[in-house]
Amino acid sequence: MTVRWGLIGASTIAHEWVIDAIRAAGGTVSSVMSSNAERARNYASDNGIASFTTDIDDILLDADIDAVYISTTNDLHHGQTVAAARAGKHILCEKPLALTVEDARAMRDAAARAGVVLATNHHLRNAATHTAIRDAIAAGKIGRPLSARVFHAGYLPTHLQGWRLDKPAAGGGAILDLTVHDVDALRYVLGRNPTEVVAIAQSGGMGSEGLEDSVMGVVRFEDGVIAQFHDGFTTRFVETGLEVHGTEGSLIGRNVMTQRPVGTVVLRNGDGERQLPTDGGNLYEGVIKAFHSAINEGSPSATAEDGIWSLATALAVKKAVASGAAIKVETGL
Ligand code: NDP
Repeated sequence: MTVRWGLIGASTIAHEWVIDAIRAAGGTVSSVMSSNAERARNYASDNGIASFTTDIDDILLDADIDAVYISTTNDLHHGQTVAAARAGKHILCEKPLALTVEDARAMRDAAARAGVVLATNHHLRNAATHTAIRDAIAAGKIGRPLSARVFHAGYLPTHLQGWRLDKPAAGGGAILDLTVHDVDALRYVLGRNPTEVVAIAQSGGMGSEGLEDSVMGVVRFEDGVIAQFHDGFTTRFVETGLEVHGTEGSLIGRNVMTQRPVGTVVLRNGDGERQLPTDGGNLYEGVIKAFHSAINEGSPSATAEDGIWSLATALAVKKAVASGAAIKVETGL
């Protein structure tokens, strides 16, 4: 069956990645909703979408739409997801799922009650590099994992220098934008859940209204694994990375915290050093293909529960920053 999508949010991420991914995965994009009629019209025309609206009900009540992609600002995800679930639409929602864990759980419950798929767009689970790291750990190539490091600081492109930097109420800041991805990537490769965090943040010239534009911290995971992370919008000249270190070896991922299917992974252990095969396709196509399959059976790349874990950990990081204390990760799951 061809999955017919409606877009809730005339966003950059949909324009740059997700519309193409839906089409490449065999789906169609029927309509787009924006809060602004002119933007909706222009967006539909620019992206070859037949219809546009400013009324979410035009999408939710349209029997010819099977699924919605929610990529509005973070404050709107909760209400729009619950409404979409009640209307019987399958939902791919952007990260962070919501601004509170309670709201994210309510989204999960609404989707479960309606019998629809609710997925979180943690695209990095579809990176061949991340899967190579996960598989090597699972195969015991580095022994018992002890620690990890995520380098996910970069430079926020000019065209995205908006609500992330100055709108706390919209869910701005580097933690809700980037730390959620780190946490999900670490859960994916380690196969363990986070338990506690410490962190310090910075407003280094881009963030205002109390919003951080950079953060560093440590997450403790089950089995005592500790993971260091650095996220930010202000570092122009860095490379991203993900490393996991174990009793018998290390996995070194370079240029792997990205939207593109690039990067390398090196395994270094007692047998020497070798680069792991990491050929893979478009990460967002991977998300959409898994989502389309999950409508019939199985699971999307990242579930609602995965989104709850990443949000709960990011919120613990925000609390740790505000209080200077170590904060437990509480999902209520
Ligand atoms: P955008 O700022 O592009 O879009 C967010 C909202 O801002 C849109 O819904 C739109 O409102 C409004 N907007 C967009 N352009 C304009 C404009 N020119 N003037 C006024 N308002 C505008 O955000 P992103 O695409 O960067 O992010 C959207 C969501 O996707 C966020 O939740 C973010 O966290 C997530 N994201 C996820 C990524 C991933 O890889 N998983 C990557 C990037 C973002 P309206 O719809 O009313 O027109």
